[in-house]
Amino acid sequence: MKINVVGSGSIGSEYMSASYVIDDHILIDVPNGIIKYLKRLGYDILKIDTILITHLHGDHFFDLPFLMLGKYFNHDKTPIKVICPYGTVKKLKYLFRLGFPYDFRKVMNSTNIEFIEHKGRSTIQVGDYLIESRRVRHGKIKPAFGYIVHKDGKSVGFSGDSMYCPMIDKIVENSDISILDMSLKAEGNRSHMGYLDIKEICNKYQEKMIVATHMHNSAREVAVNNPIKNLIIPEENYEINL
Ligand SMILES: [Zn+2]
Repeated sequence: MKINVVGSGSIGSEYMSASYVIDDHILIDVPNGIIKYLKRLGYDILKIDTILITHLHGDHFFDLPFLMLGKYFNHDKTPIKVICPYGTVKKLKYLFRLGFPYDFRKVMNSTNIEFIEHKGRSTIQVGDYLIESRRVRHGKIKPAFGYIVHKDGKSVGFSGDSMYCPMIDKIVENSDISILDMSLKAEGNRSHMGYLDIKEICNKYQEKMIVATHMHNSAREVAVNNPIKNLIIPEENYEINL
């Protein structure tokens, strides 16, 4: 598997918000501006056939209407599956009502987009990939998911946005490499992990590689100045080959 950490920043960071691409065709989270950013980086948007959404905060799904409208304007009927939390379609319709009234149905009728909403733990096979969703804890946002993606005996885990909870350990234990929320420069809170949580995880699982994401600039700075041997602080579009 080839995994690109396209975005590893928080909302306030100059880095793109947390978003990843697997093998050029699975997109994980759709933060504001990601579609144009992917195009600028040279990705072929037509190849994206599967999207995983971790949770319904704007920096994880607000570019979905623009992805859909882009397909509509380009007469692109490539099938695309969006695996997303329960309630996604309702919120998308609301976004369309605000920004592009009357267009949701028109866009859905002229494209080939399938939404697969899920509430809890689930396992979905998409082509050669086995995708497991896991409930994580992200403040008041429910449900919030992490994912583990398996292919050819290799696995990559994504925490989504989460506090340090037992499910994070499970994701790390079941993945060769894990991309984890490290928003904060020291301790975590009820919504996000911090550098000290990630340090604890790296010490606990020394044979595993961890990639930090969703970083405020202060968290990135602390981690760069205090390196941990099995922790990667990714630059733009950092590539991992598993
Ligand atoms: Zn969030």
